[in-house]
Amino acid sequence: MTPGRPVPPPLAKPIPVERTASQGSTLAAAYGATSPESGLLPMTVARRAPKEDDVEIAIEFCGLCHSDVHATRGEWRLPPYPLVPGHEIVGKVTRVGSGVQDFVPGDRVGVGCMVDSCRECASCLEGLEQYCERGNVGTYGATDVRNGGSITQGGYSTSVVVDRRFVLRIPEALDPAAAAPLLCAGITTYSPLRYFDVEEGDSVGVVGLGGLGHMAVKIAKAMGAEVTVFTTSEAKFDAARDLGADHAVLSKDPEAMEEANRSIDVIIDTVAAPHDLNPYFRTLRLDGALFQLGLPAEDMPPVSPGLLIRRRLAYAGSLIGGIEETQEMLDFCAEHGVASDIEIVNAGQLNEAYDRMVAGDVKYRFVLDTSTLQKPSERADA
Ligand code: ZN
Ligand code: ZN
Repeated sequence: MTPGRPVPPPLAKPIPVERTASQGSTLAAAYGATSPESGLLPMTVARRAPKEDDVEIAIEFCGLCHSDVHATRGEWRLPPYPLVPGHEIVGKVTRVGSGVQDFVPGDRVGVGCMVDSCRECASCLEGLEQYCERGNVGTYGATDVRNGGSITQGGYSTSVVVDRRFVLRIPEALDPAAAAPLLCAGITTYSPLRYFDVEEGDSVGVVGLGGLGHMAVKIAKAMGAEVTVFTTSEAKFDAARDLGADHAVLSKDPEAMEEANRSIDVIIDTVAAPHDLNPYFRTLRLDGALFQLGLPAEDMPPVSPGLLIRRRLAYAGSLIGGIEETQEMLDFCAEHGVASDIEIVNAGQLNEAYDRMVAGDVKYRFVLDTSTLQKPSERADA
């Protein structure tokens, strides 16, 4: 176990996020942060009574995304506190509003990184809600315009209420816990691979082998691609092959990188720390593309325009995926037997799990078992 920040002592009473539950709302047990330094603490959140188009979900599992760590610790911006993170939610429908036809109580469903968008801009009308011109409503820490401007609270909790338009169907073939990370890590890597029309015989490179990278390898393999993992650590070669990669290249070895020259069609770069992309562009063939998915806090070394020009290369970014595409991804994963490699944690282990994620000590995604949120004993032995 990685030594890290001290785990905050258990509280006698959970901190209520919204002290006065409005008419018909219910209280959910949750874990969240009250400041950048607080770590995750037990608290309660009020969930609205389902409105006409709402789906109430009893959460079973929630994946731990690296974004959750950045958000709760205020590393990107200072979020509204208290903040309950979690946007890889899987659970079962408990109640639906009168206007909901497509979900019934008992259905296994998922919620990803968004719970709403403007629904009328060009992006939204194209099913690209993640690129909503007015900004999509994030699953946590966002202002929920259609719900009185309240702040959204995420999936480290026992229930959530979400508009049906942003609820996904989890296919029966998928293990519910291993499916949770598909809702962020899965769709974030699936979307650019689909955008590039990766198919049988294409060559895909994956930079970084964490939560996103391991999903990129599995999904690209399932699409029929030949997959090369670029890693800074030779120790990860076996792990890459275990995931199905055909090749592993030590990215800090210039000779190995030279050997990979003009061997790849599309690169999925999942590394969030600043790094030099030029050696990766050299591994791309004519008309190749590099998608950057990690968002570094600092500037990156400049990209050589000559390299792009001489091979007509594209340097692109990509953000999660739209709702329709997320459903397509879930169905694709069910059909191809693709899911995340996970380690299940209980509520009392959340702070330690965060430290282990920061240290890169997870294969490959932690998933919170939300049934442990309700047990005070779990809190006490945290
Ligand atoms: Zn995420
Ligand atoms: Zn929009």
